[in-house]
Amino acid sequence: MTLDIDQIRKDFPILDQQVYNKPLIYLDSAASSQKPLAVLKKEEQLHLEYYGNIHRGAHYLADQATNDFEAVRDKVAGFIHAGSREEIIFTKGTTESINLVAFSFGEAFIQAGDEIIVSEMEHHANIVPWQMMVERKGARIVKLPFADDGRLEVEKLDELINAKTKLIAVAHVSNTLGTINPVKEIITKAHAQGVKVMVDGAQAVKHIPVDVQELDADFYVFSAHKMYGPNGVGVLYGRKALLEQMPPYQGGGEMISEVTFEKTSFNELPYKFEAGTPHITGVIAFGVAIDYLLQLGVAEVASYENQLLEYATQKMEQIEGMRIFGTQKAKSGVITFNIDGIHPFDLGTMLDKMGIAVRTGRLCADPVMDHYQQAATIRISFAVYNTFDEIDRFIEALERLSVMLG
Ligand code: PLP
Repeated sequence: MTLDIDQIRKDFPILDQQVYNKPLIYLDSAASSQKPLAVLKKEEQLHLEYYGNIHRGAHYLADQATNDFEAVRDKVAGFIHAGSREEIIFTKGTTESINLVAFSFGEAFIQAGDEIIVSEMEHHANIVPWQMMVERKGARIVKLPFADDGRLEVEKLDELINAKTKLIAVAHVSNTLGTINPVKEIITKAHAQGVKVMVDGAQAVKHIPVDVQELDADFYVFSAHKMYGPNGVGVLYGRKALLEQMPPYQGGGEMISEVTFEKTSFNELPYKFEAGTPHITGVIAFGVAIDYLLQLGVAEVASYENQLLEYATQKMEQIEGMRIFGTQKAKSGVITFNIDGIHPFDLGTMLDKMGIAVRTGRLCADPVMDHYQQAATIRISFAVYNTFDEIDRFIEALERLSVMLG
């Protein structure tokens, strides 16, 4: 199926506007994607017609909301091919999902002296929670490095994994380099040594059809807002046998089965990990975002975005002084770069004034910046609503600015 991008853009009215009197070109979808009307309308409809707190109200509105909320759990389970709905925990985002795993897995399985392997190309969200956990437990983090072209040095796992290794934390797709990591290979290597793997799928799920059972992932985490869904909603997939052994992350309503002042017993999965009122409207509208993506076809979207990626890369490489970080073939969604002699903040600010939204800075990945000894960089990223014409206009702007600022 060929995607009708003009038609798709009509689903995203926010794109049809002028910024500083210039047509908006949104190239920051890796930070957060825009949401189609259907998603926005679902949230509104819920508020207007059947909003109520879930699981606890014995009334019509609460029942309706509960049914829809739980139907999205089934939808998410289907979307990533989880073995059961109990393995899907709703959180407020990838960051919270990783904090949950780091805390609860740490409490259940980590002893002093243990090791967690974390890749060098991780977002801070997949570094800091592990640091907090190992600090508490007297364990330590071991770095799995990447090569200068952005390839993760997976073969080094053979030396790094030892009897103390308990878990590997790795991104499916890097938010800075775009590298698609061979997570299946990593998981196979890890499992051969009895090591668990947590995959950060924040940048992957909208580009790559994910099957957590086929990958054999122990944990897989992602955010709705990076895949055309609402912000404030995330998912933790966890293997049931592991989740059952892990203690709750937060205490409160819904995650308990019985409370007395002497002792509390916890609810069953998945509710044990969902304390308090969740983002009800967000989760329900997330179901619409998944439908939207499935209707377009994840593989079709990925193929279109790859064409944009290749086209933009080719053109950018012709600009004098251009340095692109992450030149792997197995790459998705983002191009991070600098131009010699031009400060990325100057370039980012000028692009903004030309209506072009890009990300500048350290991209929540200090170790990647340090690897390349860059104080900051610029990143462009694509979604299904971007066009070749937008890339042409971006390249034109880059060419003008590199003469002006260079
Ligand atoms: N992991 C990766 C690879 C990301 O790209 C991001 C966000 O940019 C995160 C984690 C954190 O996601 P969130 O801010 O939605 O929790």
